[in-house]
Amino acid sequence: MANKIVNLCIYFTPRDGVESIDIENDVKRASLIWNQCGIEFKVKKKFTSIDLPDLANFSFADKEITHCGDLTNAPNTAVNIRLEKMLAFRPECDETDVAVYYVSGKTFSDGTTTSCFYPQQVAGKKLFSIVLTTGAINTDYLAHELGHALFVRPNGNYDDPDPKRDPADKIHNTDQCYLMHVPVGGIKITQPQCVLANKSTLLKEPMPPADLFRLIKIDGTLFINDYDWPDDDDSKTFVLPHKELKVNPFNIVNTWEFTHVVDEVRVKVILEFCWSMNSSITLNSFLFLYEGVNGKTTDDLDGLQLSTDIIPKDAQNFAVESNVINVEEDEVDDIGYLELFISNDIDPNP
Ligand SMILES: [Zn+2]
Repeated sequence: MANKIVNLCIYFTPRDGVESIDIENDVKRASLIWNQCGIEFKVKKKFTSIDLPDLANFSFADKEITHCGDLTNAPNTAVNIRLEKMLAFRPECDETDVAVYYVSGKTFSDGTTTSCFYPQQVAGKKLFSIVLTTGAINTDYLAHELGHALFVRPNGNYDDPDPKRDPADKIHNTDQCYLMHVPVGGIKITQPQCVLANKSTLLKEPMPPADLFRLIKIDGTLFINDYDWPDDDDSKTFVLPHKELKVNPFNIVNTWEFTHVVDEVRVKVILEFCWSMNSSITLNSFLFLYEGVNGKTTDDLDGLQLSTDIIPKDAQNFAVESNVINVEEDEVDDIGYLELFISNDIDPNP
């Protein structure tokens, strides 16, 4: 079974000497460790202070950050206020994503702490953030802090669920081989920890590649002719409303059905769009023609046409046509003629 995913939003405050390759390594490392529980991490977005100039407001000197953990009751010092403002600044990061801030400075004020998990309640939303100083690069501290985030219960408590948790510091473990021990030395994650982490609201099902999600756009016309010898023929072209339908691995078939009438002739169209693994779409078109009598339509089927077309991946205004005739008549002039222009795009909102 594929691993569940946790999205990370990465924010760099201004700092020297940290290349984004380090971040990829940290995330990869955290994924390898949490693979023990079938969990991995994905960088959803990555911002520097060049992409987001506001990040420049949140620079911290070495040993400047004093507080770790929930900031609700932390003293209102200038550094705590700046920290709280930074954690509230998380563009393009959802409630179910974790915001990770890479800040300047080698450690926190105690000279040893290099990372911290900050749970917050903002306007009824739980927001999870992690701060890493330069001292946490190329270590397992990101994996450790993500452990705290994964252990948060609905009531906000994030104690270590393992029996060997530290009674004096319940969010950490006493066993040095465990990831949740501080300082971090080992990477072991136990069964109770995996069970709890797998209940986290941060977990998302792995998504298939984006280009498998297709948005079909359809425009076209339906022409109907009612042959009324010896009277004049009645005919009309109906411009179909622009239609958009989604097909994807979770919604393999989508149909569109419509009917138009000209005098005694009624034409029903059923369009069946079937998704394929290669992102092409198979269109089965069914055209039904019913010819009535004395100016009225009936349910007697007088003509049926089935055709199949393949709409290639990324096709634009791909032309498809099909026509149905009245097979009950010798002089066949009752017809329904369908002409469609179909685009097969990536769905921008899957
Ligand atoms: Zn910790």
